[in-house]
Amino acid sequence: MNTLSLDPKIIGMARALKLDGNDSVQVIMGFCRKRITKMLKSAASVQSIWDFETIVCTHLNLVIHEIWNDDELRDFSQRYAMDEGDPKFAALEMELEGDDTYGVLYQRNALNEAGEYQYVAFVDCRGDKKHKRFFTRWHEIAHCLTTYEQFEFPFKRTNAADIEKDPVEKLMDMIAGDLGFLEPLFRPVLHGELGNNRLTFDTVEGVRNRFCPDASFQATLNACVAHAPTPIILIEAGLGLKQSQKRELRDTQLQLLPTRPPKPCLRVLRSMSNGAARKTGFLVHKNWRVPGFSVIAKVFNSDLEINDKAVENLGSWKSSDGSSLQYVNVLIQARKIQGRVFAIISLTE
Ligand SMILES: [Zn+2]
Repeated sequence: MNTLSLDPKIIGMARALKLDGNDSVQVIMGFCRKRITKMLKSAASVQSIWDFETIVCTHLNLVIHEIWNDDELRDFSQRYAMDEGDPKFAALEMELEGDDTYGVLYQRNALNEAGEYQYVAFVDCRGDKKHKRFFTRWHEIAHCLTTYEQFEFPFKRTNAADIEKDPVEKLMDMIAGDLGFLEPLFRPVLHGELGNNRLTFDTVEGVRNRFCPDASFQATLNACVAHAPTPIILIEAGLGLKQSQKRELRDTQLQLLPTRPPKPCLRVLRSMSNGAARKTGFLVHKNWRVPGFSVIAKVFNSDLEINDKAVENLGSWKSSDGSSLQYVNVLIQARKIQGRVFAIISLTE
């Protein structure tokens, strides 16, 4: 069970949505999937994920605006503040100010003709934020789908710092990853590209071109791994500290005399085993140190954004207390993207 399932906020959300079940993350995700699948079934024709998004937004009374430059931002802000007679929209610029704030969702003051709530989301596509636009749109849809109390509004932020700490933001990202690559639409594309072959970075690029070139490579990679029929672990490696060093660092910051800060080394920053991998206990722990001889370290230490692959045995990955990972031969495909290494780890036979 995901530790998020035990978080009081997430348990509270499941209760407020009147959902039963031990695993609150799974019941909430199941609830969203069910609502969305019903909308998909009622649709006459869906050619692409964008068609489907339009249908979902219509059902949810949600309008999503993308903001590509500062002028557009000011226009939206003034127009909504005026039309809605609500000064909260005047603060839109401030809401999207942070480098890590990707979107804002507002509940509108007026109900629609059927007496239902209406929503408007603004997705920031200025600068590098544009790369996350597809994902941010689905993140805001996830908020709409799981809304249960009016006083949660006027708005919600989507920013990276919150996602690190806030369990609801984390869950919304999980829902966005699930719904933006909804199984009945995504699986045929993945299977068409994959055939009986092993998942590679090239396959992911092919799937992305066919399914939705607007989705980021990383979001598509996550979805390909999650839906692949064979056991796969996806890891993201970069410089990091072990838990005890993090504690040490926090403690030394409270001390008066300066001490040498702990040195970060190449570690697993994120690890995801897909369904087939979880069934067989095939996993790599988060925070685990990446051995210097691994292809992941080789790719990380290269000055270029390169790809490489190698067969390794996970049993040779040792922690400082002497324990090791499962003794199993794997193919590791590694790719460096913006200073981090993404690795697709699959069994060799
Ligand atoms: Zn959010």
